[in-house]
Amino acid sequence: SGPLLQVREVKTHFPVRGGLLGRVQGTVKAVDGVSFDVERGETLGLVGESGCGKSTLGRSLLRLIEPTSGSIRFEGEELTGLPPGRMRALRRRMQLIFQDPYASLNPRLTVRELIGEPFAIHGLAQGREREEKVLALVDLMGLPRDAMDRYPHAFSGGQRQRIGIARSIALRPDLVIADEPISALDVSIQAQIINLLVDLQRELKLTYVFIAHDLKIVEYISTRVAVMYLGKIVELARAGDLYRRPRHPYTQALLSAVPVPDPERPRKRILLQGDVPSPLAPPPGCAFHPRCPHAFERCRRETPPLYVLEGGHTAACFLAEPEARPAPAAPPTTGG
Ligand code: SF4
Ligand code: MG
Repeated sequence: SGPLLQVREVKTHFPVRGGLLGRVQGTVKAVDGVSFDVERGETLGLVGESGCGKSTLGRSLLRLIEPTSGSIRFEGEELTGLPPGRMRALRRRMQLIFQDPYASLNPRLTVRELIGEPFAIHGLAQGREREEKVLALVDLMGLPRDAMDRYPHAFSGGQRQRIGIARSIALRPDLVIADEPISALDVSIQAQIINLLVDLQRELKLTYVFIAHDLKIVEYISTRVAVMYLGKIVELARAGDLYRRPRHPYTQALLSAVPVPDPERPRKRILLQGDVPSPLAPPPGCAFHPRCPHAFERCRRETPPLYVLEGGHTAACFLAEPEARPAPAAPPTTGG
């Protein structure tokens, strides 16, 4: 029945104002023409350095930030331009898990109120019924039952993230966008939260877009992985294929920094020169060329397209061109 989410050529650009008059001085192309599908039940990992646009993309998919252009279809229904009422109704089925559980929880509300809030917002389950649903969520999250009457400050970071996750899944969404859900947590409890997310996915048949900069965690949890650089997806493949044989030099560099215990796959650390350029003034041609160890003349002039390789692996690098397969032919049109 088609992918759960179809994203086509989405751009989210922000004007940058400055000076005394607050004039527009430029445009940040935070997300700059991104296309992919999210299949039902999969986890699509979305990785890249901070500032590459992955959080903006995550929010744009739910229209928490309004995309500038492009198409986002949820179960075939176009989200861009959808009236607010219909969008609110759909949001029940598409939720965000935040990076910082503390900042996302109102400190004046008890856990009962915090987890009950999604039901209240959507006018679902009153009184005793709501109490039971909230209690069931508290159990599901592995929180103690006496948590109900306590406030966020009484909990550890990991427990706060459990409260945040309970809010996000309370209404049984289909799609959950998790924006670095463990990067604010102690390493010792990161695995517990990952395992909770994996269990919830199985029990509730959730589809995840999992945003992270830690490639190891993404490999563990993802079905497919998309790598972002300066607002664009530069590589997308099944997780196993991407980690075994990354095609884009940027992915190769990111992966070279991940320690592997396997002596048969020794990796040489590839050090990238320089920082991520400002998205206000991305380099011409391939935006990665100033940092790419393989850059050649053409890379400074032309922007590489996303080449389609074997197994649906895609990579936006001229070095992948010789391997590229023709894109699937368009269906024949019947003349009229
Ligand atoms: Fe490097 Fe050129 Fe490939 Fe860009 S297109 S990643 S600069 S080799
Ligand atoms: Mg972010």
